[in-house]
Amino acid sequence: METRLCMVIPCYNEEEVLPTTSKMFLDELHLLVKKGKISDESRIMFVNDGSKDTTWEIIKSLSKEDEHFIGITQSRNRGHQNAVLAGLMEAKDMFDITISIDCDGQDDITAMEGMVDAYHDGCEVVYGVRSSRDTDTFFKRTTAQGFYKFLNMMGAEVVYNHADYRLISARVLEEFANFKEVNLFLRGMIPLVGFKSTSVYYERHERIAGESHYPLSKMLSLAFDGITSLSVKPIRIITWFGLLVSLLSFIGVIWAVISNLTGHTVTGWSSTLAIMCFLGGVQLVSLGVIGEYIGKIYMEVKHRPRYIISERTWNKEK
Ligand code: UDP
Ligand code: MG
Repeated sequence: METRLCMVIPCYNEEEVLPTTSKMFLDELHLLVKKGKISDESRIMFVNDGSKDTTWEIIKSLSKEDEHFIGITQSRNRGHQNAVLAGLMEAKDMFDITISIDCDGQDDITAMEGMVDAYHDGCEVVYGVRSSRDTDTFFKRTTAQGFYKFLNMMGAEVVYNHADYRLISARVLEEFANFKEVNLFLRGMIPLVGFKSTSVYYERHERIAGESHYPLSKMLSLAFDGITSLSVKPIRIITWFGLLVSLLSFIGVIWAVISNLTGHTVTGWSSTLAIMCFLGGVQLVSLGVIGEYIGKIYMEVKHRPRYIISERTWNKEK
């Protein structure tokens, strides 16, 4: 049976890049079809994430021009992770494999061939891993690498230097559909599904045009989400730290009593003040971390939909 591939491509305000990158995607699809690796029934699915520019109009006209292009649009902007999820869930019943890829040309499309090969060799998940980050700014590179190290330290297993460029089989998606959490961090969740996986290396390019939608603040919140969605290690660290501080205070109290009894009165309030400030800080940070988790629980128990598709370029009933 021929393999039907669906490229899932989230787009948010990408009118500047879509006309160029859509042609690149289509050329690569034709090439893979010609090589006999995928079927001609494969499709390029754009997921418009509530763009404010003409992105959706471009997607609709592309789908009229060529049957290989299809598109869905979200009722509003919900962020990259939710857009990818919407596309994957939409594709899982219609295709054998999906490849999620950014629409700005940063993910090297030629790596798809290696991914499809790995699938034919029996892998159900294939991670696209950046072999170099030369095109990123020094700042983005260091913060991103620190981010992966920190995530792993905190107990969230993620593939180093892998973002959201990956192949997933319909079978894995079927199981993944049971992961109902609202806080999404796909690169940490997909490995939890299991099944045979491998990595394919690629060079990260520069954006074709336009600007990144991931400024430092969004990256930090993604990092927080990643850690708190995948691990409770931070709370455990607080517990251990609390125990350590209690032990030190206990020793301090004994020392204070002994020096008092032996006539050496403890002088000065600066040490008291320093300890009070320190403990105050530790308590506030700890409360903050616990608060993060409570916030997560609050969002989870609401069970709000993770995406809402308001329009498709095809008729779903057919
Ligand atoms: N994106 C999205 N919704 C958002 C932000 C971004 O669908 O709210 C898409 C965007 O169009 C692109 C991908 O997610 O295809 C990655 O975003 P971007 O290139 O801005 O991030 P970076 O590559 O700089 O991390
Ligand atoms: Mg990008």
